[in-house]
Amino acid sequence: MIHLTDTEIQEYVLDRNACSTQIIAHMQSCDTCKEAAAAYEILFAGIRAQPDAVFDFELSELVLEKIQVPERTRKPVPVLTILLSILCAGGSYFFRNDIAHLFSGIPPLLLYFIIISTGAVALFLLADMYKGYQQKMMQLDRY
Ligand SMILES: [Zn+2]
Repeated sequence: MIHLTDTEIQEYVLDRNACSTQIIAHMQSCDTCKEAAAAYEILFAGIRAQPDAVFDFELSELVLEKIQVPERTRKPVPVLTILLSILCAGGSYFFRNDIAHLFSGIPPLLLYFIIISTGAVALFLLADMYKGYQQKMMQLDRY
C-alpha cells in the first residue's frame, strides 16, 4: 500500500474540503496515515498556541541610530566662476567697438564649420544631460 506524502497529509489536516477524494478515501482506510495526521494536528495546534513574535526592545530606536544623516555643508562660493564672469564683462565693455567686426575677418566656410561643430557638441551635451536625467528619474521610481 502506498501511503500519502507528508504534504498531502498536512493539506488534509489543514483543509479537508480542498483535498481530492482519493486522499480522503485513503485517510479513512489507512491507520498509519491517520496516526501521522493526528500528530500533525497536535503540532499545528501547538504552533497556533504560540504567542506572536514581538521584539522585547524598541526596534525603531535602534534603526534610527544606524541611519546616518549627512551633514549639511555650505557650498563654497564659486570664486573662479565669479572672476571669469567679471573678466568677460570687462572684456566685452573694453572691446565693445570691435565686437561688430569680430566675425568679419573669418572666411564664411570656416564660420559655417565653427557653427556646425558647436551645434553638434551642444546637441551631444544636451542628449547626455537628458540621458542622465532619465536615469535619475528611474532611480527615484524605485523608491
Ligand atoms: Zn496510508
